[in-house]
Amino acid sequence: MADSIEKNLTAVERSIGEACDRAGRDRSEITLVAVSKTFPASYVDEAIRLGVTDIGENRVQEAESKLASVEKKARFHLIGHLQSNKSKLAASLFDVIQTVDSSKLARRLDEAAAEGGRSIEVMIQVNVGEEEQKYGVESEEAYALAAEVNSLEHLELTGLMTIPPIADEPATRRFFAKLRSLREEISERLESETFRHLSMGMSADYGIAIEEGATIIRVGSAIFGSRD
Ligand SMILES: *Cc1c(COP(=O)(O)O)cnc(C)c1O
Repeated sequence: MADSIEKNLTAVERSIGEACDRAGRDRSEITLVAVSKTFPASYVDEAIRLGVTDIGENRVQEAESKLASVEKKARFHLIGHLQSNKSKLAASLFDVIQTVDSSKLARRLDEAAAEGGRSIEVMIQVNVGEEEQKYGVESEEAYALAAEVNSLEHLELTGLMTIPPIADEPATRRFFAKLRSLREEISERLESETFRHLSMGMSADYGIAIEEGATIIRVGSAIFGSRD
């Protein structure tokens, strides 16, 4: 296990470097979130030992028990759907919640953060492919939600996240470009200096995402192995 995580991470870092070269970007502009869902805490500790600074989990319940046994320090991101009745628990476990997609959820998180006497970094999930079964706000609704979240005292809104439809490379590229132009539009209208992140790109397409401006990539199987 330890061997392969190290080997996989080296390969992922090499691909990130190549994508940065193609795009004329600096490696420091991109945060690698290692997605550890379904894998044990020991894998998380190993990734952190190898230099990973950010860890992603998609389910609150799974993260609750796992993160309690992680020994090393990292920033933890929730990247899966959050039901508002789990806001308080999620607020206590995660440093960043990437999947805010309703004003009800945003208000609950704000209350939870206020009770905890702190602020939470959040991002808005956008359903760029307008798929019925997917979570996230429609592109047209993103600004309204961003403006509301931005006005909540205990939430720090830092950007947008998306999971595009499974598609060929040109279409994937267009979905990523769409999220990027949405970020430009919203950051201009909000006049916010902290609203700058684009969380997009997974194991299959993080190179394309980097070329299209991703600042956060979420990579699971390419680091930890197949989940099947
Ligand atoms: C599982 C997951 C990932 C990582 O997927 P891989 O294909 O294993 O890299 C990224 N983002 C989200 C939201 C996920 O649920």
